[in-house]
Formats: sequence, C-alpha cells, structure tokens
Amino acid sequence: MFRLILLTLLIIVAVPCEWTPSTTARLAFAAEPLNVVVTLPVLKDWVQQIGGSHVRVVSLMTGYESEHTYSPKPSDLVAVRKASLLFEVGAGLEVWVSSLVKNAGNASLQVVTTSKDIELIQDHAEPAGDTHAHQHAAGNPHVWLDPGAAATMVQHISSAMVAADPAHAPEYRTNTAAYLQSLLRVQEESLERLHKVPNRAVIVHHPAWPYFARRYDLRIAGTILTQPGGEPSARHLHTLIEAIKRDHIRVIISEVQLNQKVPQLLARETGAHIAVLTTLPGGLPGTETYLDMLRYNVLQLAQALEQT
Ligand SMILES: [Zn+2]
Repeated sequence: MFRLILLTLLIIVAVPCEWTPSTTARLAFAAEPLNVVVTLPVLKDWVQQIGGSHVRVVSLMTGYESEHTYSPKPSDLVAVRKASLLFEVGAGLEVWVSSLVKNAGNASLQVVTTSKDIELIQDHAEPAGDTHAHQHAAGNPHVWLDPGAAATMVQHISSAMVAADPAHAPEYRTNTAAYLQSLLRVQEESLERLHKVPNRAVIVHHPAWPYFARRYDLRIAGTILTQPGGEPSARHLHTLIEAIKRDHIRVIISEVQLNQKVPQLLARETGAHIAVLTTLPGGLPGTETYLDMLRYNVLQLAQALEQT
C-alpha cells in the first residue's frame, strides 16, 4: 500500500515536470531540421547519410563545377545565414569560404574543416613538366577521393552533427556506423577490381588524384592542367605526348568538370584511351552518391586500363 502511494506521488510530481515551457520549446526546436551548408556535393551526401530526415542541407557547389574556379552566389549568403553548421574540405581548397562566412555575419554558425587529421600529400613539380602543380601551401586538398580519408571526414561530420543536435545523436551514431561499414565494403571491392590491372600508369587532367592513386597503387605519369583554371602550354603538351609514347601510357583520366579538348587531343596524338571520371558526386549519371561515384570511377578506369 505504501508503495502504491509512493508511486502515485511520484507520477503526480513527475508529470508536471515533463511539461515545463522550456521542455515544450526544446521539443519544438528538435522537430526543426538541423540546417547545414556544405561547400562540395560530396559533403552533402555524407550529411544526408548521417542525418536523414533530421537535416536540411544545401551544397553551395554542384557536381558540374570546378572546385577551383567557383565564386559564391547571392543565394549562398542566404543559406549560410540560416545554417547552424558549415562543412568544408579545407586544406586551402575553398579559398572563398572565409569571406562568405564573414559577410553572412551568422554568430551561431560553426565552421568544420573535414580534412582535419588527414596527412596531406605535398604537390611537387612534374617530372618533365614546365610548371608547379597546385599552389596550395597546406598540401593537395583532394583528400576525399581516397575512401580511407573519406572515413575520417565522415567521422568529423558525424561528431559535429551529434554535438549540434543531441536530440538525434543516437540515430546519427547508428547511421554513421552503418555508412562506414558500407564505405569499407566498397573500398575493398574497388581495390579488388583494380588489383588485377597490369598497366597502372595514367595521365591525369588536373592534380586531383594523388590520394586516389596512392590508395589504388596507380602511377601518375603526367598532369595536363597544372594550374587551376589555366591552359597547358604547347611545350607542356609536347612533353606529355613524348612521355605517353615513351612510357607506353595507355590511359588518360579526364574529368567531366573540365574542358575535354586537351585530353581528346592527347588521345588522338598518342592512341591512348580516355576514362572520363568525376571528382564530385553527381558529375556524371550514376554518380549521385559518394559510393556510386567511387564504384563508377573505379569501373571506368579498370575497363580503360584493361583495353590496353
Ligand atoms: Zn582540384
């Protein structure tokens, strides 16, 4: 009997506490999706994989643009003003982010650099080229093309989302764990696919591929565009043609975001095959997610290397 009274008392005491105005406000707030802005569509995919219906995410760039020549639109400022979180790759890639954030004047915005803790590859001069590769002080920023580095980036995104929206933290953690498993599986499948290919040397369109090449044990024998947004000189093209012929390089990785004329010219001159790949999800049909893009790039490249 005493227990029953105690239980009743507890319920009476507990119920009003559940419905204080602050709790109601918090619940209403939790029902609002977490507003996130990302610079590149690859980051948008990861935010969606982790956050599902609890996030509203805007990518400033589409998969059709080059990450080096992008300049923010007025709508980007509006998106940044409304956001709680902004994810960037960092490593000197999105040079336009700091002024965009400053202009937006959103005091509650948290900017997260997802390439943190990833050891960057330093660009160096072409073996026989005429110019330096990307002029990034920090190192080459195209880390996301290595699925191993992608896992680190996903973990940074997940931690920031868990901290910004604790109401959905368990769900974010579960989704992250499931995604990291899928990522590992696709990485293993793609390693297996490229493992059998005997000729592993490629010419690349711009210096986006060192992390990818390291993961898949490919040799980058030359780079067409060593300056973002620039044009290769006649002398550089001549050097590339000589190298392709001399070293029997059979594949040119061309990127859909960049002009196809020079890769086509090199292919005509040398008989090498072109594999048109994408550095960003959504750049080509069938590459809407990061995992789709990884599978697509590896398959196209493997098929081109096997034609030789
Ligand atoms: Zn790039």
